[in-house]
Amino acid sequence: MTIERDIQGPREGSDLPRYAGIATFALLPRIDEVEHADIAVVGIPFDSGTSFRPGARFGPAHIREHSRQLHPYHQIHETFPFRNQQIVDAGDFGVNPYSIDQAVESIHAKAERLTSQGTRILALGGDHTVALPLLRAAASAHGPLAVLHFDAHLDTWDVLHGASIWHGSPFRRAAEEGLLDLEHCQHVGIRGGVYDPSELEDDRRAGFEIIRSEEFQERSMQSIAAQILERLGSGPVYISIDIDVLDPAHAPGTGTPEVAGINTREFFSVLRRLKGLNIVGGDVVEVAPAYDHAGVTGLAAAHTAWELLTLMGLSATGD
Ligand code: MN
Ligand code: MN
Repeated sequence: MTIERDIQGPREGSDLPRYAGIATFALLPRIDEVEHADIAVVGIPFDSGTSFRPGARFGPAHIREHSRQLHPYHQIHETFPFRNQQIVDAGDFGVNPYSIDQAVESIHAKAERLTSQGTRILALGGDHTVALPLLRAAASAHGPLAVLHFDAHLDTWDVLHGASIWHGSPFRRAAEEGLLDLEHCQHVGIRGGVYDPSELEDDRRAGFEIIRSEEFQERSMQSIAAQILERLGSGPVYISIDIDVLDPAHAPGTGTPEVAGINTREFFSVLRRLKGLNIVGGDVVEVAPAYDHAGVTGLAAAHTAWELLTLMGLSATGD
């Protein structure tokens, strides 16, 4: 029996509307209220790996606040994501803002505590650094991962200012550590700057095929989704979504915005076609509320997380 709580509307005997009360993600139950969680939404308030505008440490609270309006029924998939599986809010991981190494270690340990109990994680960032320890935890439970990465940026860069772990390097480090299935990783929405074309070579070596942002104007959403599904295959998949994949008009509240991105309708149109993947974990990162306006980015991120939770419910969970 799953607990859905206030997602169905005010509880029997409760006079709290959805905009009131404690903002767990989508007003889901807390992890301590259930015996077993199939999926835990966790916040990771960490942004010390940011290379440009800081502030993603406030992302989890912002996304939760804008998740209050989520409804229980998914019209496209014709399913109740919170009824078919026990989803909970596991709160925020405590992470050290002064040491990237310590933060990464602690995220890894806390994530493994959940994955070792058979709980899949959907993380709310936080900057993209947090993907590395999450990939470590997911790969130790499931083996090498096919990563589906939505982002304006490659995030397979090497050392910056002497740091090998920062928000532009998680997928390079993951590839080096053997966490990725190098035949089945996919970037989507890439644009923006690179320092040198050799970075694209490095990126290929890290196992990624690229669907660029411009392709969304030239191709159908069906063909893009079909390419992604074919590339990812039937193995364990980790979906990492940097909110800056969206155009700054659709997600201004982020640390390294890039012009000429995709819009939310294009993004969701592709996401909703990704049924059947064996999704073992994911994240929505780089939401920096200080640069947001009227909750545009918070809403986009909350709904993105909901789409992922729905897909996770539809995916084959046994791998
Ligand atoms: Mn990015
Ligand atoms: Mn990124």
